[in-house]
Parts: sequence; C-alpha cells; structure tokens
Amino acid sequence: MGRPVRVELHRVSLPLVTPLVSAHGVETARELVLVHVTLDDGGQGWGECSALVHPTYTAEYTGGAWAALRDELVPRFFAGRPWGIVGHPMASAALLTAEADADLRRVGRSLADQLALMHPGGRRDTVASCAVVGRGRTIEAVLSEVAERVAEGHRHVKLKIGPHAVDLDALAATRDSWPDLDLAADANGSLSSVDDRSLDRIDALGLTYLEQPLPADDLAGASVLADRLSTPVALDESITSDAAARTAVRFGAADVLNVKPARVGGPVEAARIVATARDLGVPAFVGGMLETGIGRATALAVASLPGCTLATDLGPSGRYFSTDVTVPIPLADNGTLTVPGGPGIGVEPDRARLAAAQVDHLVLEVRR
Ligand code: MG
Repeated sequence: MGRPVRVELHRVSLPLVTPLVSAHGVETARELVLVHVTLDDGGQGWGECSALVHPTYTAEYTGGAWAALRDELVPRFFAGRPWGIVGHPMASAALLTAEADADLRRVGRSLADQLALMHPGGRRDTVASCAVVGRGRTIEAVLSEVAERVAEGHRHVKLKIGPHAVDLDALAATRDSWPDLDLAADANGSLSSVDDRSLDRIDALGLTYLEQPLPADDLAGASVLADRLSTPVALDESITSDAAARTAVRFGAADVLNVKPARVGGPVEAARIVATARDLGVPAFVGGMLETGIGRATALAVASLPGCTLATDLGPSGRYFSTDVTVPIPLADNGTLTVPGGPGIGVEPDRARLAAAQVDHLVLEVRR
C-alpha cells in the first residue's frame, strides 16, 4: 500500500432536481467536498465527504468539514496511522475511501469484492431500491410523488415525516392507496412530542420500519418505543459506529439498522456493522445521504453485502441530480440499482462536470 502524498479538495455544488424536505430541513442544492488522493506509488483515488451544508442531520457540515480536512485531517493523514481523530466521520470517510479506492485500483479489485471478503456468502450484483419521498405541504402532493416513484419501478417507498398531523395523514393515505406497498417512515428524531394516539395510528399501518423516531442520543426512549410498538424501530442517526450498533441492539433500542458509510467513518466500518447485524440477526440496509456518484457508488458496495437484507434508500442519481459529477447510477425497470463492479469504487468524476460544479478547490501536499 502506498502512502498519501497529495490531497485535492473539491467543494462542489449540484442543484437538486427537486428540494428534499425532512424533519431537519430543506435541501435545494447539494454542496459537499470531494477528495482526490495521490499515493507515493502513483495510485490515485476518490472519496466523498457527504456532510450536509448545515449541521442539521449530524454535527458535521460542509464548511466545517472543509476546514477540518485542511487543518487537521489531511496533515494527520500524511503523518500516518493512528491519526487520533475524534469525531468528523464524514470527513474521515472521504480520505479513507479515496485511499482504499487508490489501493484497489492498483490491484484491479472492486470495493464491493474487497468488503465481501469479510462476509461469507459473497455479494449481490444488484440491490433493491427504496424511494425516499420528502415531506409534502399537502397529502395530495405526497400521494402524487409516491405514485411517480411506484410508476418508475420502485417497490419500496419511505416517507419522511415530522410530528405534524399532515405528515401522519399523508402516511395513512399512502397506506390506504397502496395497501401492499413495502412502506416505511423516517422521522429524523422528531417524534418526542407526539401523543400515544398518533403513535398507535402509525403502528397500525403495517410499516416495514419506523426510522429514528426519537433524537439520536435517546436510546432509552427508543428501547421503550421498540417494546411498545409492533412496528420495528430502525435507528439511523444513533448508529455512529459498530460499538454504537451493538449497544443499540443489545439494549433493545434498534430492531433494524440503517448503515450509512459516511456517518460511521467509511465503508470498512459500515461493512463491520453489516456483519454485526447479520451476527445478531437484525435486518439492515444502507441509507442515502444525497450522495454524488462517488458517495453513491461507495455506499452501493456496502449495500451489496448479504447482511443488508432490506432495500437501500440510496436511489438512482437521476432522482436527485440532472447532472451528476460521475456517470449516473440508473434505476433498472425492476426497481434495482447495479453495484459498480470496476476497480476501486468503480466510478470517477467526469473532469468537465466536476469543473462545472466546483465552487472551491485546494491542493495539499506532504512536506518533504
Ligand atoms: Mg434516516
């Protein structure tokens, strides 16, 4: 394995096809940091820091990640392991993914194949896709978007919800209109104030899971809810590491694990959590962070592992971007996404598209 000697940071901004509304805010454009690493053996690779532009999903955000990479993470990355960083998992994931991408390209192996070495049973070439539908102003707006997603081939749908009556009404109306749809809901930690009647109403809808009903650190509350509801409780924001996943499952706070490679510090830690889920007999899936093709391909490698038993909500590129920085990852007619099988993460940015999306650029080199 080569040592990193050069890191390029590309801050890019890609307009979203439609704004995505969740309990933690509205995303209209995707502004994030792409990382290009060069190793001393000539290897080159790409990684993505998938932090959102504001610290509303987790504490990381694009501007903070840029500064953390420039001032702390990249200098420590050059200095070698252990790099002694606490926190900053999404910024760390960008560097670790780019380094792995470079190493795997040199030996001609895909990231998905590399991760599968940790997982008996091999991996899949395609992964079922769950469409994420943002919160709507009206029930009709939500129903019309669900209809669109079902028409394009999706067999799994997840609604973003908040604590308001319109969210729960839209969820119930979706269930009424599609009684057999594999339907889930993601509250992004917003249901602390919801009364028991509303919870019972959600519980009667036969959801595949209710994701992150309570704030990330409220594992005791999640455990009580998981006991009370017949609907499986999935945890997303709470699952920051393999240790956190084990704790959540051990204390009965998680019936399902949402594994996001970015949120847990990269694809290797994510694959570890998928193995834990399989060992503990807990269903798991890979969640989406509105990634560009770089982050989406990386996450799909994790989603290809056999422990990911539920549909991924990564989605096809075209759902979010009219022009991605890489070749788009499409949705097949049967509602699946194909796992990139080429060396490394299997995709790289198109230079012209990257230049068009770029809003800032910085080159850092190891001091000789
Ligand atoms: Mg979520």
